[in-house]
Amino acid sequence: KVVVVGSANMDLVGLAPTLPRPGETVLGDDFVMAPGGKGSNQAIAAARAGGETTFLGAIGSDAFGVTLGARLAATGVNTTWVRTSYGTSGVAVIMVDHAGENSILVSPGANRTFTGLTADEQAVIGEADVLLCQQEIPMETVHAALRAGRAGGTRTILNAAPARDLPPGLLDEVDLLLVNEIEARAVAGTGEPDMGALLALVPRVVLTLSGSGARYADRDGQDVHIPAFPVEVADTTAAGDAFTGALAVAWGEGRDLLDAVRWANAAGAACVQRVGASGALPERAEIEALYNS
Ligand code: ADP
Repeated sequence: KVVVVGSANMDLVGLAPTLPRPGETVLGDDFVMAPGGKGSNQAIAAARAGGETTFLGAIGSDAFGVTLGARLAATGVNTTWVRTSYGTSGVAVIMVDHAGENSILVSPGANRTFTGLTADEQAVIGEADVLLCQQEIPMETVHAALRAGRAGGTRTILNAAPARDLPPGLLDEVDLLLVNEIEARAVAGTGEPDMGALLALVPRVVLTLSGSGARYADRDGQDVHIPAFPVEVADTTAAGDAFTGALAVAWGEGRDLLDAVRWANAAGAACVQRVGASGALPERAEIEALYNS
C-alpha cells in the first residue's frame, strides 16, 4: 500500500510559435488541458505501476477540482481522503514555443489550504507500507505526514522537488531521499551532488541522473550506479514522476532497493518514449517488459 501526500494541479498548456513578452499577445496553436502536480502525477504513476494507492491532497470547489478527482479515481487511486476546499484548484499555466522553450506560472490554489492533518489522515498514513511526499504543498504538512509515517512504521520517501528550504528536523523523519542533481545540491547545500553530505542527513539516497539512470547510496556503505534503459526519447516530461511512483510501489512490495531502482528506471524509460505528462505514465506491464528486456 502506497500513500501519496501532495499537490494536484490542472495543467493548461498552450503551444505558440514564440512565447509572448510582457504586454504582447501571441496567436498560438494547440491547447491541451491535463491533470498535473507532482502529488497527483506520482499517485497516478504508482497506481499504474500496480500499487494500491491512496492520495491525500486538496482540490478546489471549481470545475477543475471535479476533473482532477475523477481522473485520479478513474486510474484506480483511492480518493476517499481528498479534500475539497472552497475556491480554485491549483493551476499551472504553461506556454511552450516551437523550440520547446517554456514559461510556467503555478497558482497553488487549494494546495495552499492543505494544512492540519487530522488524526484519521495520520492513521491512513501510518497504516501504509510506503509514504511518498513532495514539496508542492505547505512544508508543515509534509513534515506532519512524515512524522505520522514514522510513528506508524511506514517507510517514508521524500522527493525533495521542487527544491525549497526545509524546516529544521524534517529530514530526521525521512527513510529515503529521492532527488535529481539540482535538488541534491539544494538539500546538501553543496556545489556538486555530494552523497556523503546527503547520507549525513538521511539513511538512504536515490539520485536520478536523467539519461544515465540513477545512483543509490546508503549508510551501510552501498553506493551503486544503476544504468538507464536505452530507449528512443520522445518527451522527458513526467519521467521523474514515473520513476518516483514506481520506486514507491517496488519498495512497498518488499523488493530490495537496488532492484527497486532498476524497476523505477524501467518506468522512467517507458515514460520518455511517449509525449505527454500524466498521460505518458506507464502501466505495470510496460514497466515489466522493459525491466525483463
Ligand atoms: P527529473 O525529471 O525529476 O529531473 P530525471 O530527468 O533524472 O528526473 O529522470 C528520471 C528518471 O527517468 C531517470 O532516473 C531515468 O530512470 C529515466 N530517464 C530519464 N531520461 C531518460 C532517457 N533519456 N533514457 C532512459 N531513461 C530516462
